[in-house]
Amino acid sequence: GPLVTFERVGYAYPGATRRALDGLDMTIARGEFVGIVGATGAGKSTLCLTLNGIVPQFFGGSFFGTVRIAGSDTLETPTSRLAATVGMVFEDPETQITATTVEGEVAFALENLKVPTALMQVRVAEALKAVGLAGLERKHPARLSGGQKQRLAIASALALSPDCIVLDEPTSQLDPVGTAEVFALLSRLNRERGITIIVASHASEELAAAATRILLLSGGRIVRDGSPRAVLGDV
Ligand code: ADP
Ligand code: ADP
Repeated sequence: GPLVTFERVGYAYPGATRRALDGLDMTIARGEFVGIVGATGAGKSTLCLTLNGIVPQFFGGSFFGTVRIAGSDTLETPTSRLAATVGMVFEDPETQITATTVEGEVAFALENLKVPTALMQVRVAEALKAVGLAGLERKHPARLSGGQKQRLAIASALALSPDCIVLDEPTSQLDPVGTAEVFALLSRLNRERGITIIVASHASEELAAAATRILLLSGGRIVRDGSPRAVLGDV
């Protein structure tokens, strides 16, 4: 079956008068590279948070309909388990990095899973190599460039062997070089490893080149769903 299924999903944050998501129906197959676009407030971030159960499990509020990830209903699946299927990367490269070395940052993601040390070292090395950060293991994350920090966040997600990586505006704080690095990496992970990529972004040129499908959101609804050429041509 599909990796992601939304059935008539509606959601309002606690106390909100309008719905952040308002009747989403869609499926995403394994191996797709989906771009999510739309104006500020359209629901892009909320949709991203719905994919790993943070909405509604951590936020509360009123939630309608069903989201299934790899067949599991997100309302019935612990977010810790969803986190191993759906890796998340956020906009701010600073706030998601907590360790004092590059390798420690990726290891941190694995520590909760009680992975044996030897296997953990292999997985950390493999993830850093995959994102092009091999050789920087002992460096302090604060001394990385913005693009390197986001690639480190992607390595931390990759170390958990996710089916899917969801990124919310991953390049909006990056310069053009960092933006290009991140999109090139996402394309490679999608093409070479078949990892499903779902990315909310305003970087429409990069999205047009990398994505296989674009969802245009407005008012918490999908108003366009098609190829980058068909959808981004109108934006
Ligand atoms: P973006 O457009 O990048 O998604 P926003 O500027 O809409 O970000 O929101 C930034 C932060 O503020 C997010 O964490 C979001 O959850 C929160 N936020 C946005 N709108 C509201 C609101 N009406 N009430 C409380 N928090 C909000
Ligand atoms: P986008 O990412 O497209 O900018 P969001 O998903 O952040 O859109 O926001 C969708 C709607 O939900 C907006 O009306 C926003 O103000 C509201 N919203 C977002 N985060 C929160 C929050 N934490 N609490 C209340 N309302 C929020």
